[in-house]
Amino acid sequence: MPDADDLLIGLDPEQREVALALRGPVSVVAGAGTGKTRAITHRMAYGVATGVYKPTEVLAVTFTTKAANEMRVRLRALGAEGVQARTFHSAALRQARYFWPHVYGGEFPEVTQSKFSLVAEAMRRLGQRADTPLLRDLSSEIEWAKVSNIVPTAYAAAAGPARREVADLDPGQVANVLAAYEEVKRERGRIDMEDILLVTAAILADDERIAATVRQQYRWFVVDEFQDVNPLQSTLLDLWLGGRNDICVVGDPRQTIYSFAGASPRILASFARRHEGAQRIELVRNYRSTPQIVAAANAVFARAATTDDIRLQSQQEPGDPVSYIGYPDEPAEASAVASEIALLHRRGMPYREMAILFRINAQSEAFEEALGEHGIPYVMRGATGFFNRAEVRQAVTLLRGSARGGEAEGQHLVDDVRAILSAMGHTDEPPSGAGAVRDRWESLHAIVSMATDLAESDPDAGMTTLVADLDRRIEQAHAPEADGVTLATLHSAKGLEWDAVFCVGMHEGMMPSVHADTPEMVEEERRLFYVGITRARHDLMISWAATRKAGGRGNRQPTRFLDTLLPSGHAARQVSSQARQRKVAKCRVCNTVLAVADRKLGRCADCPATYDETLYEALRTWRKEQSTEQGKPAYVVFTDATLQAIAE
Ligand code: ATP
Ligand code: MG
Repeated sequence: MPDADDLLIGLDPEQREVALALRGPVSVVAGAGTGKTRAITHRMAYGVATGVYKPTEVLAVTFTTKAANEMRVRLRALGAEGVQARTFHSAALRQARYFWPHVYGGEFPEVTQSKFSLVAEAMRRLGQRADTPLLRDLSSEIEWAKVSNIVPTAYAAAAGPARREVADLDPGQVANVLAAYEEVKRERGRIDMEDILLVTAAILADDERIAATVRQQYRWFVVDEFQDVNPLQSTLLDLWLGGRNDICVVGDPRQTIYSFAGASPRILASFARRHEGAQRIELVRNYRSTPQIVAAANAVFARAATTDDIRLQSQQEPGDPVSYIGYPDEPAEASAVASEIALLHRRGMPYREMAILFRINAQSEAFEEALGEHGIPYVMRGATGFFNRAEVRQAVTLLRGSARGGEAEGQHLVDDVRAILSAMGHTDEPPSGAGAVRDRWESLHAIVSMATDLAESDPDAGMTTLVADLDRRIEQAHAPEADGVTLATLHSAKGLEWDAVFCVGMHEGMMPSVHADTPEMVEEERRLFYVGITRARHDLMISWAATRKAGGRGNRQPTRFLDTLLPSGHAARQVSSQARQRKVAKCRVCNTVLAVADRKLGRCADCPATYDETLYEALRTWRKEQSTEQGKPAYVVFTDATLQAIAE
């Protein structure tokens, strides 16, 4: 076990203050990468090493299972084995399971992961029909109400204008669905994810003996990512504390990205009021990222409607400028990102130190394909790879069945695919809600697009050809490996860091999402963007594509969150003119007109002057020269001409 004082080495004065404040209440409010997680981890280890904490009496609450695992590993390395690091759910589930038989008798009920079928039954009982998008919207509304401690009878008053409309249901109707849902769930002997916390809270609130037992077990509390705590989690935490004050919370208001799911940054803001004598510690030094990345992060809020002014100060040596790159189309974007990853890897960066981050899961497909073509292993976080998604597997099975049935080749491929997918509830019209329902639609839509592409490039192609094409793609998809590039949504990247981060698909309509239709929602998207770019240690590349498919027309604009970073008007113009030029795809290096098979790569398969190390070095130097001052970005649009010029 390390000497207690050794645990303070490697902490700055403010972090040390956090570590020394062993008896709470303490709140640490600080920006991304300032060492909040590190400070609380050292604090727990220091508490254990000095004998103030008994390890098993410490409960660290983290946001994700991955974060909990990482914290456990860190704690073990610091000699604090035995400290519990869990998510709210896992900590509550453990207690609820244990005490359930004593309180309610019988077996612990089955936990439903999806509310769908229960909501559908509730709607049936109310004599209403619900399609998949509506079921999703209602499910997330039920979740919001429950984590906000809002019972059905209070829903209509509480929902107000802050909530988005659920189809054309008025708040009173939604409240009825909420009530009916609870009834159906009770009758079927099920509980849902929120119930795990509600049940635990109820047991602790109603049974003094159980509450005393639990409070004896957990004496010291630490909560990471406290800005995204919701009222239900806060209630549970208060019950665990039982009036004691031995709690330390850390958070960053600028990283609140779940407020539309019920998180309340006010809980962090009001911590001092609710915990008398609370010590508030601020950290401003950013240890994670280069000054260039930190400058970009600070600039994201330059014109934001925020009152706080947390400006980060990088402690790192200057690095390369951040790249902002518009590509003519998604395959070109994906291929360039894969090339860059391959080169970084050749220069010694392990794949696991790189991440591709996007707004929604459905954006991963082009990147999975490009990584596959480059033979780069990758790991999908928080979601299954495109071809492993339930809806995609189901769709492929249906298409395969249809191909086996023999339909004529080359007839109406796209219409046939549409007809088959319509059996899964898919329509051409995107759903109104964001989140899972939108992801599912995007996945199925991607299959329709593949069929469209195929039909365009090969008018004779029929279902058999499509299925063969899908099989080839499935085969190419890489199995998850430990040393792989991380593919993740911005949401699931929270709290993590990589040497190189590619924030891709960052165009208007995706970032902010087209569904962010209130100023509050746009600000939440801005925070999400900030979370994304603050994940990078050394290399940050932000990109977008003017249109989805190669050679297509489109003039998607880069996200407005880059307005303070990009030279005004510059980006959009270049991207759209570039998109027009790309009607004939040419090799990015030698300018030869490409065969269809090579278009995705953006260069000929056996190009004499491939996008190689020399070109890469030249590109980096060029980018550096373009950056006029520290933090001011080099703005690059990959055109054939640019690359040619750099190469020469
Ligand atoms: P986020 O807001 O993204 O969760 P954070 O504030 O929790 O970030 P950490 O993840 O704890 O930040 O730290 C960011 C990086 O900086 C980590 O790699 C960490 O090891 C490093 N770091 C933190 N404090 C120091 C320090 N005093 N000296 C050197 N490195 C540090
Ligand atoms: Mg952290």
